[in-house]
Amino acid sequence: MSGSARFDRLKADIVSCRRCPRLVEYREHVPPTRAYIDQEYWRRPVPGFGDLGGRLLILGLAPARSGANRTGRIFTGDASSRFLVSALHSAGFANQATSESRQDGLEYTDCFVTAVVKCVPPGDKPLPGEFRNCAPFLDAEMALLPNLRAVLALGSYAFKAFLGYLGREGGEVRGLEFRHGASYRLAGRPTLYASYHPSPRNTNTGKLTKPMLVSVLNRVKRDFSI
Ligand code: SF4
Repeated sequence: MSGSARFDRLKADIVSCRRCPRLVEYREHVPPTRAYIDQEYWRRPVPGFGDLGGRLLILGLAPARSGANRTGRIFTGDASSRFLVSALHSAGFANQATSESRQDGLEYTDCFVTAVVKCVPPGDKPLPGEFRNCAPFLDAEMALLPNLRAVLALGSYAFKAFLGYLGREGGEVRGLEFRHGASYRLAGRPTLYASYHPSPRNTNTGKLTKPMLVSVLNRVKRDFSI
């Protein structure tokens, strides 16, 4: 079976998952935000999206309430998505600078984007058991990316969750600490990079600017040629 057929099967498994009762209840019943009051929300788990042949994986924490939980595509339709995709476009990983809906024509090149937990969590905080429940889906997505050379974790929670993945794979995680701009070369694994999450909390305060994120992405690209 081809990689894309295996990914289609994995996506179907993810989208139909109801393993976490708290998250199922939340994703299906969280009220729409005022701007999207008339829209039908996706309200299901959200699989990764992008180039299965990509060398870069962008790893977020979870779908956003009125972003991916509304649109059904990861990092789509909210302020964090717009910031991230604009930076990916500037660095040459996306064909356009906007990410608004599953039908908007966005394509990633050399880049796959996913989240650690596939359902929107209350307060953007999954519980430990929910991380554990969803880990097999991240592991399965990782296994479908044969050319992976770099993982960019967005925020400390995604970073920590990736250390969980490394631990499950028998990797050494001591000394790996989240810091914006940090990078860690890992024996036999993709290089791990860290960035602040592109949430309005960070971008509206200037903690993360677009040049800062583009700079990390350009560094990843430079490192590909080493
Ligand atoms: S978070 Fe993951 S494991 Fe839990 S219900 Fe959603 S898809 Fe299933």
